[in-house]
Amino acid sequence: MALKEYRAKRNFTVSPEPKGAEPKTIKKRGVRLFFCVQKHLASHLHYDLRLEHDGVLLSWAVPKGPSIDPADKRLAMHVEDHPIEYGTFEGVIPDGYGAGIVMLWDEGTWEPLVDDVGEALSKGDLKLQLHGVKLKGSWALVRTKGGDGRSWLLLKHRDEWAGPIDIAAFAPLSIKSGGDFVDILAQESPDLWTSNRAAKGGSAHMLKVAERAVAIAEANKKASGGQDDSLGHQENNTSLKPQEARKQASSAKPKAATTASAPARSTPRTPGASGRAARSRAARSRPR
Ligand code: MN
Repeated sequence: MALKEYRAKRNFTVSPEPKGAEPKTIKKRGVRLFFCVQKHLASHLHYDLRLEHDGVLLSWAVPKGPSIDPADKRLAMHVEDHPIEYGTFEGVIPDGYGAGIVMLWDEGTWEPLVDDVGEALSKGDLKLQLHGVKLKGSWALVRTKGGDGRSWLLLKHRDEWAGPIDIAAFAPLSIKSGGDFVDILAQESPDLWTSNRAAKGGSAHMLKVAERAVAIAEANKKASGGQDDSLGHQENNTSLKPQEARKQASSAKPKAATTASAPARSTPRTPGASGRAARSRAARSRPR
């Protein structure tokens, strides 16, 4: 099956998403595998967790996003495998399946904490270690009983990387561009974004997506108080006006898709990188 379902859902003459090369099965014992989380503003906002396995990206859509609080059990819907090249994709899907904005929210490597990933998947219990910019430490994906078998739960184990922080709210921006959804829209699809608002040129769906993107950016700005330095230059990008973002984009337009093996680009400071101090600072200033 591999990428059949992925390709069947998409029209690659319309979507900038990668079509994907044929997956190769590679034995990778002891090798760290690629993982990412893409924040996807489509009909609904959700976070797509993707884990490299056997030449493709296993994928789960997590409506509320990952939580580093072990008390949270986050629903994760198992969806179709994606091509490896998809893992660094950030951009705008103007039409068709998943139409909306994709942000590369986290990226890094993962290690299975089980001997056989295939067996763990069929058993519905995969323990894993994440080495991301935002997500680190020990996690589990556990399939729920009943239903159609596509419902899993994403759980953080108790370790030094766990904490009572809403990580999605604390670190809402892209680790690829540093921007929010509006910045990605302005850079990738200036035709859908004019004079600091959604252009009438787009479809009704994209107009709605753009309006939600604005609301999300405003909420993020408000949450950060405009002067929270705990996220460094990341937050400054939030206040970037889309027109300015567009101007910047002409000089430094990030590639929509690069190879999965490319090293992480300039990675903004996040709780993972700056450790416990930043996290406890955030816990004090922003009660959940
Ligand atoms: Mn998605």
